[in-house]
Amino acid sequence: MKTFNIAALAGDGIGPEVMAEAIKVLRATEKKFGFKLAITEAPVGWAGIDAAGKALPDATLALCKQSDAILFGSVGLPDRDPTIPKEERPERAALLRIRKEFGLFANLRPVTLPKALAHACPLAKERQGNGIDILVVRELTGGMYFGQPKKTETLADGQQRTIDTMVYTTSEIERIARVAFKSAQLRRKKLTSIDKANVLENGILWRETVTRIAREFPDVALDHMFVDNGAMQLMLKPTQFDVMLCENMFGDILSDEAAALGGSLGMLPSASLGATTGGTTFGFYEPAGGTAPDIAGKNLANPIAQILSSALMLRHSFGLNDAAAAIEAAVAKAIDAGNRTGDIFSPVEAGAKRVGTREMGDAIAAGI
Ligand code: NAD
Repeated sequence: MKTFNIAALAGDGIGPEVMAEAIKVLRATEKKFGFKLAITEAPVGWAGIDAAGKALPDATLALCKQSDAILFGSVGLPDRDPTIPKEERPERAALLRIRKEFGLFANLRPVTLPKALAHACPLAKERQGNGIDILVVRELTGGMYFGQPKKTETLADGQQRTIDTMVYTTSEIERIARVAFKSAQLRRKKLTSIDKANVLENGILWRETVTRIAREFPDVALDHMFVDNGAMQLMLKPTQFDVMLCENMFGDILSDEAAALGGSLGMLPSASLGATTGGTTFGFYEPAGGTAPDIAGKNLANPIAQILSSALMLRHSFGLNDAAAAIEAAVAKAIDAGNRTGDIFSPVEAGAKRVGTREMGDAIAAGI
């Protein structure tokens, strides 16, 4: 039986509470599907500073390097962060360090709004169709955020001039395009590539390269959309999208816009993928939200984002597609049965019952 090694880094605030529920659901999945998960927990963030003096203790980093994937909670505490220098604070010293260390170039942000949660979405019901289900695939290491030159200079006349540079190579576009096409193959087999080919040189190379890579995936239908139209279409007709493929900055903006359709931060998982070796893709899986100190330690947090992050891990790092789908189906079942944590509860919804973090985890684990 194949064993998959997972570093589970719960972090701060609600991290440990939602991580416990994700591990509960993973254990139920392991039992049902007969694979072995070696899950090792280690401190990160303020938990790392308190245990070993550093937001990313050496032992935690060493564990990550020996693992096939990292299941991450969240880090940072607004009342403690300002007490230490910026570069030692958890988000910079742990989160950014891990992203850099493991060459995570692909960010996957699925947004799923089940029909039962129509009330939690800011769009009118008639725009939600049978429920929203979009995957935004964002390139994470190229484009304007990293391109050189990047500077602010003072001109001879005294005014200042700033420069940011958008740079992509063919191979960077090819590898993110393949991640997006493969993801589409596991979904409804439709890919919308987002660019600004009418104005940017980058957009022209992006469109040409994505079109060429599409020939490797003849079962996926490809279309192209300018980013400004993409932003508008997400609000007008989000149900037209399956997978949206974006360069770094466009993906940063559109993934947050799409996230707003999902109803609550507590529902949104994410995956950041690195290199593939021997059939395993190294990945970093975390909820989209932060440590939510306002509700931490009170059994109030929604564990679904963390649980769905663990489903993404099974699918994208380990290729356990049936087990991942079973977790997603169990989440849908728990919601259909009326289980609601505070963030997705509406007093006017008939049949809804308010539950805590642990009860939501129990309902999902029971549905596997
Ligand atoms: P946040 O995402 O922690 O919270 C924003 C709001 O969303 C809060 O009202 C919170 O209660 C709610 N929320 C978030 N997750 C939820 C869940 N699972 N269930 C129910 N409600 C949920 O953002 P913030 O308050 O701006 O930041 C708090 C701390 O988290 C800060 O220190 C910040 O730096 C850190 N942070 C960390 C990460 C990360 O580790 N990736 C991401 C964002 C913020």
